Amino acid sequence: MKKIVIGIFMLLILLYISTLHIDIKVLSENIKVFSKQELNVSSCLKDMFGFCLVKLPVNINGSVDTNKIGSYEVNYEANILFKDKKITKQIKVFDDEAPVITVDKDMIESCPNKEGIIDYKAIDNYDNDITDKVIKEIVDNKYILKVSDSSNNETILEIPISYQDKEKPKIKLKGSTILYLELGEKYKEPGYTATDNCLGNITDKVIISGEVNSNKSGKYTLTYSVKDEFNNESKITRTIYVYKKNPDIPIGNKVIYLTFDDGPSGYTNELLDILKKYNVKATFFITSNGSDKVIKRAYQEGHSIGIHTYSHKYNEIYKSEEAFFKDINKVNARIKRITGNESHILRFAGGSSNTVSKFNKGIMTRLSKEVELRGYKYFDWNVSGGDTATKDTNKIANNVIKNLKKGNNVVLQHDTNYNSIKAVEKIIQYGLTNNYVFASLNETSPTIHHAINN
Ligand SMILES: [Zn+2]
Repeated sequence: MKKIVIGIFMLLILLYISTLHIDIKVLSENIKVFSKQELNVSSCLKDMFGFCLVKLPVNINGSVDTNKIGSYEVNYEANILFKDKKITKQIKVFDDEAPVITVDKDMIESCPNKEGIIDYKAIDNYDNDITDKVIKEIVDNKYILKVSDSSNNETILEIPISYQDKEKPKIKLKGSTILYLELGEKYKEPGYTATDNCLGNITDKVIISGEVNSNKSGKYTLTYSVKDEFNNESKITRTIYVYKKNPDIPIGNKVIYLTFDDGPSGYTNELLDILKKYNVKATFFITSNGSDKVIKRAYQEGHSIGIHTYSHKYNEIYKSEEAFFKDINKVNARIKRITGNESHILRFAGGSSNTVSKFNKGIMTRLSKEVELRGYKYFDWNVSGGDTATKDTNKIANNVIKNLKKGNNVVLQHDTNYNSIKAVEKIIQYGLTNNYVFASLNETSPTIHHAINN
């Protein structure tokens, strides 16, 4: 019995001894830079209850530079008799001290700008002089200096601004304030700039609101707004018209017949380029002017070639019926030679309402009947570009645009006038974005006749 008790007792002692173990505790895993702190560590031989039986010396292997931020690998080893323990730790040397910004002013009394009207310095305990890393901002009447050191310790210094800015910034749009976009064509922002009396260039602060749906025809407005740091706001808009290209066959009840008299001229090719771009067909009432080549091009591109007058000399052509027909026959011979066909549409020089023919009383009354008897259809106009009275392209375009109405619009312009040709694109763009279609005149087109004055 006694032997059994001793046996059990011995077994318990062996069991207790088998639980003995070495514990190493690293007390300084994070060390502040420049702190001269030692690598604190302690070690014990512990039993199963965590009781420290004896303190053990620790061998430290590896070096830590406490003057340099970084991560250092250190090995610790402790042993006693048959027991041995090794551990490895990453010791971190860190910086948690923010830089210090010093300034020469504690209030800003004049127009501030980011280029700086104050002197400042930023010094960091670890990085030294980091003045060049300072970020300047002006927000809510405060001049703000911000800087971070290489360990991301940030310092923010706010200097109040007593200066009052009441002047709004200025926005300038690049490109036109009215743009035209063909259906499906992607909108490309032509750009803009914004400047402020105080802050200089603030283009990066411009906010654009509104959008352009280039897949739906209509009018779109973009608003460009910008605020300076004193909440003075400026706004400007750009209008974008998305238009459908002119259809091949006229539809609807809003039709524009563009007609050009007195040509062709050296400008007519440029006009044909514009018409082609929009698939718009027009009518040219020609004279003896210009090249055959451009008439041929106009004809081949689907435009109507009509008769105006060969000489355009009123005192000759309205001298007699005979003189008149002699004159227009010469034009028609030219048309036939170039296109292969005679034309049956005509516009009187000066229009059927002209009074320049009054030296021959009643000639227009007689001619207007006679031309129809001879198989011609004559066209006057009900919208005029007024391009003989002004050289202002915008005025010419507006003369037409203002006077467009539902139904048929026969527009008079002259392709001998470059300013008038330059107005055509604007007229087309307006028409196409306002549900007009463009068509050329032929014998079956609705006639627009003036009242005869002679
Ligand atoms: Zn004319």
